[in-house]
Amino acid sequence: MSLFSENPCTLEDPVEQLSGIGPKRAECLANLGIQSVRDLLFHFPRSYQDRRCLTPIAEVSEGESVTIQGEVISSRNIRLRGRMSLAVLQLRDDTGTITATFFGRGFMANTAFRPGVRGLFTGMVGQYKGLALKNPEYELLSGDEEDRLNTGCIVPVYRLTENVSQRNLRRWIRTALNSLADGLEEPLPHTLRERYGFPELHEAIRQAHFPDEIAAGESARERFVYEELLAIQLGVLGTRAARRHEARHQRHVVNGPCLSALRERLPFSLTSGQARAVSDILQDLAAPRPMMRLLQGDVGCGKTVVALHAIAAALDGGHQAAIMAPTEILAEQHAIHLRDWLGPLGVRIAVLTGSMRGARDARARIASGDAQVIVGTHALIQEATDFHRLALAIIDEQHRFGVMQRTTLTEKGLHPDVLHMTATPIPRTLAITVYGGMDITIIDELPPGRLPVLTRRVTPAKVPGLYEYVHQQAARGFQTYIICPLVDESEKREDLRSVIRHFEELSEGPLSGLRMELLHGRLDAAEKDAIMHRFKGGAIDVLFSTTVIEVGIDVASATTMIVENADQFGLTQLHQLRGRVGRGSEQSYCFLLGTPKTDEGKRRLEVLCERASGFDIAEEDLLMRGPGEFYGVRQAGLSDLRVADLIRDARWLDRARRDAQAILEADPPLALPAHAALARQAARFGGVCA
Ligand code: ADP
Ligand code: MG
Repeated sequence: MSLFSENPCTLEDPVEQLSGIGPKRAECLANLGIQSVRDLLFHFPRSYQDRRCLTPIAEVSEGESVTIQGEVISSRNIRLRGRMSLAVLQLRDDTGTITATFFGRGFMANTAFRPGVRGLFTGMVGQYKGLALKNPEYELLSGDEEDRLNTGCIVPVYRLTENVSQRNLRRWIRTALNSLADGLEEPLPHTLRERYGFPELHEAIRQAHFPDEIAAGESARERFVYEELLAIQLGVLGTRAARRHEARHQRHVVNGPCLSALRERLPFSLTSGQARAVSDILQDLAAPRPMMRLLQGDVGCGKTVVALHAIAAALDGGHQAAIMAPTEILAEQHAIHLRDWLGPLGVRIAVLTGSMRGARDARARIASGDAQVIVGTHALIQEATDFHRLALAIIDEQHRFGVMQRTTLTEKGLHPDVLHMTATPIPRTLAITVYGGMDITIIDELPPGRLPVLTRRVTPAKVPGLYEYVHQQAARGFQTYIICPLVDESEKREDLRSVIRHFEELSEGPLSGLRMELLHGRLDAAEKDAIMHRFKGGAIDVLFSTTVIEVGIDVASATTMIVENADQFGLTQLHQLRGRVGRGSEQSYCFLLGTPKTDEGKRRLEVLCERASGFDIAEEDLLMRGPGEFYGVRQAGLSDLRVADLIRDARWLDRARRDAQAILEADPPLALPAHAALARQAARFGGVCA
């Protein structure tokens, strides 16, 4: 028959099984994440080109976008000014001739575009000494049967990598399609396929690559988007349903003396967002199943005090509660709040961090149950740390921890209630995907009297004036943070030395006379704490720091934040940094220094100046970076979403979630034969949110 008839293969076979793909090609394909025949078939086109209508050269007119098929009759390499060059070709078909120009690629006149070569050229018609196609996309034809895949039809356009061309991919995918042994297992139940009018699997794969109409290709792709999102939702919702069957091992008391004493002692009334969060959490704690809740709220919205309510309820039940924070400074700050608000009630508190003295003693108190509330860093999840009766685990700034770390903390107790907190607003589509297994509470307001932080970019010429402003603020008793990025997170010596030098220049130069301190990751915990305490107590005017203070620090009289080389930070990180100020009633400012080298860097700083809401910022961040870089996405195994795009395909996400709920209601363990394939796919995404 044709050259495409092949030995049968299965989806799980390596691509080398296909004729035309040897070890070298297979290596190239691996760069696209393609290893198996399945990967290859699920490498869907990013777009299509309609090559059914070729325009005869005689009918081409200026300003049109056309595809022509022609033969190169002459080609020249023309040198331009500088070191640029231009390839100029004459193309001919049965009806006439036209010029095609390729800017910057003069060398191709003597290589790919030698006279006699035939090809397809797609592009806009402009002028170059007469009508010309300017920088058209092109594809050379080989004159054999394979051209049928590349001409006269709708052709797929793929994401490529080095040494893999469109023609290669089209051929290999066609080969794979033709070689598939019959009977691909159809994961989607018939009813769902009907509901959305999806073609069955084999046909859908074919249409996605080689559609009869562009619309058919796109709707075939949607089938796979939906399938992928459905598998994720079945995974996360299935885990959640399984957890619902866990019994509660400890009873909390949600109207006990500790809780009411805390309520009385609070120097302010809760915002309505906080009150709602407290009520959600207390309901969870009273329910028959362990809590699994994500508390999401912008920096400064007051999540700590909400967590304190949960802790009080655990204490009233006679249990231990723990808060884990990503940095020592933050853990220490929580400890201060706990001592302030719970200490006077006779609650015994233990602090456990990595580098502290007396860790052995603290561990003994935690293990014996002498310590009722434990606050600490990663030290909490070390093997040496045993709890007595851990009934409530709170994970602050949870996105800073890996899934494993979070799970490890919860496993220190017996199905404890778990509260995750994050100041990183998560766009809804992502929240449903990554955290779909948790209940979510959002606090969307700040305590009253706060003014939004005003954010400004500062050009180098204006920097001296900025330092003047810092002096004025200090004279009025207000403090300043200066944040300096380190190129290397690990705070290498050379790097650190340049930060220290900069610190000295400032403290002896424009900021001399101010009480200034340097904070960085190389200091030991005691030194850091000492500095933070003095800053909080107003004994320091300017805190010059690396990003060790990134999250959570709360000093109401700090009103100015200066970020050096701001373009080197991510959008979300900048927003979090800025959240360190604006915590009192005084107008606060965030000044961004540095000159962005890329358009994206520039855009980031603009977004920050224009937007105050963490949710807006998060949406922008998602748009700019894509979900791959987003919190938790990689950890959750979602960065390799093959088809779905969490922004473009949001409406399919909603459908998938609804359908997953219905499927799980009817068949919670996904045990029906009709769900077998779905269950296998879903298993990849289970436990994501542990
Ligand atoms: P985050 O949500 O960023 O962790 P914090 O819990 O650190 O915020 O709270 C920020 C500051 O706001 C703290 O000083 C806290 O005491 C204060 N605060 C919290 N809730 C309220 C409230 N309802 N009214 C006034 N101040 C509040
Ligand atoms: Mg916090």
